[in-house]
Amino acid sequence: MLFGRRKDMARRRWRLSAKLLIASSVATVIGFSAICANVMLEMRRGEEELARQMLENLAASIDADIGRNIELYDLSLRAVASNLVMPELKDVSKEIRHLILFDRAASAKHFGAIQVFDASGRLWIDASSLDPRPEIRADEEYFAVHRSNPDEGLFVSRPMLHRGAYSIVLSRRISDAEGRFLGVAAGSIRFSYFHELFDRLNLSPDDTITVLRRDRTVIMRKPFNLDIIGKNLATVRSWSANNLKPTGSYAGQGPVDATPRLYVRRDSSGPLYVVVGKPLEAIFRVWQREVIRIGAIMTALILFVLGTTFFLGREISRRAQAEDRLEELATTDALTGLKNRRKFDLEIDTEWRRAVRGRTPVALLMIDADHFKSYNDNYGHQAGDQVLVGIAICISDSVRRAGDCVARFGGEEFAVLLPGFSVTEALAVAENIRHKVAHWSDEEVTTVSIGVASMMPSAGLDWPDLIAAADKALYAAKANGRNQTVVANVPKLAMVA
Ligand code: GH3
Ligand code: MG
Ligand code: MG
Repeated sequence: MLFGRRKDMARRRWRLSAKLLIASSVATVIGFSAICANVMLEMRRGEEELARQMLENLAASIDADIGRNIELYDLSLRAVASNLVMPELKDVSKEIRHLILFDRAASAKHFGAIQVFDASGRLWIDASSLDPRPEIRADEEYFAVHRSNPDEGLFVSRPMLHRGAYSIVLSRRISDAEGRFLGVAAGSIRFSYFHELFDRLNLSPDDTITVLRRDRTVIMRKPFNLDIIGKNLATVRSWSANNLKPTGSYAGQGPVDATPRLYVRRDSSGPLYVVVGKPLEAIFRVWQREVIRIGAIMTALILFVLGTTFFLGREISRRAQAEDRLEELATTDALTGLKNRRKFDLEIDTEWRRAVRGRTPVALLMIDADHFKSYNDNYGHQAGDQVLVGIAICISDSVRRAGDCVARFGGEEFAVLLPGFSVTEALAVAENIRHKVAHWSDEEVTTVSIGVASMMPSAGLDWPDLIAAADKALYAAKANGRNQTVVANVPKLAMVA
């Protein structure tokens, strides 16, 4: 029925509110979650940045220490290589030659004594002894490198056992004025130097320090592991040139163990560089604890908000339905299910205003059951009620547009509002109703009289005038003998079935 449609619209409006509440709540939750996630990611980036800076500083200080010592030692080697070719040196005693060639720097704690080998690899001069025992180093890698390559400069060997201790050998070529190969000056830095250097640092057990030669040969590593020392990592992908650029960093697995770390590489201009690593788990431990804590709080809050929203939404829907039911009760005629007089007054007012704005006509049918008092007297009030319900159905069946309004005007009188209908259109509807009512019951014929009026709203006219006109026409129909339709202002237009 028509009323049902209106009711649905009202309810839909309310449902929209509940949906709106849920949608805004969900949007808020998503928004907050996004902000929270963003803050957590920022925090993570912050932690990583902090760790990177710390590792960079650590790597820089290690690199500076190693660089300085190698430079110092190299200065001594250079001095030997350049002083040895002085012609005057041939004429001085071994003792004086020692004093000229070797300064004290080269005899520091972790440095091996400098040795000079001649072009055939035989030990020529030894800083630690005036009469050294014979040695031949012609087979050593550093000897071969210097012999074949005049421009090698300082050469750092792979880690090796040198004079009974793990060391790296530092060497320089000795050439005469014409560049001919005269021999090699070589010295060593013992591993004890690195051990002492690393022990001075306050490191966690899982932190790593790796000292590498430029060709990626591992010179030293903490934690110390002989299997790794001397290994060339050039072919190991995890620290490939792309992953670990000079003064760059890399997060992931290293070349030795499976622990993912943040590795920071520090380069000076020296022959070695340093990579320090810290496990990601250690870097993000505090952050992870925070994520769990804040995540738990956020989850609880989200559940609370969603739960509250759900209950509020349900309450809103429930109230909306209750309001719909109340409105239905307040605007419906209990017997016929049509709109009641109050609702009709509101509707005609609304439609009249709309017609004023749109300059369209409004038609009204006033329908009254004929001789209804005697019907009641003959068949009883309850039978009369059934007839009223039947008439209501006949009217409703004849009126189908959404804007049309069928109401029980009072007693055995009905009103049909037909916005936009001309007199002719309204008359057709009225006649349809009248015929339907007349043929509805086979036993006892009930008829209705109908007054029709259609007005174009204009100055000085209002909807009560429309009702009055239709009413007047209805009276005319009654006066004319009933069971007929009379159009307002058209006297004697009676259409008898
Ligand atoms: P007319 O053809 O001139 O309209 O004659 P009428 O008897 O229908 O008119 P009248 O105004 O004299 O009587 C209306 C009657 O309608 C009186 C009343 O008993 C009856 N009536 C009004 N409301 C109801 C109702 O809700 N139920 C029933 N059964 N009868 C009603
Ligand atoms: Mg009446
Ligand atoms: Mg009547």
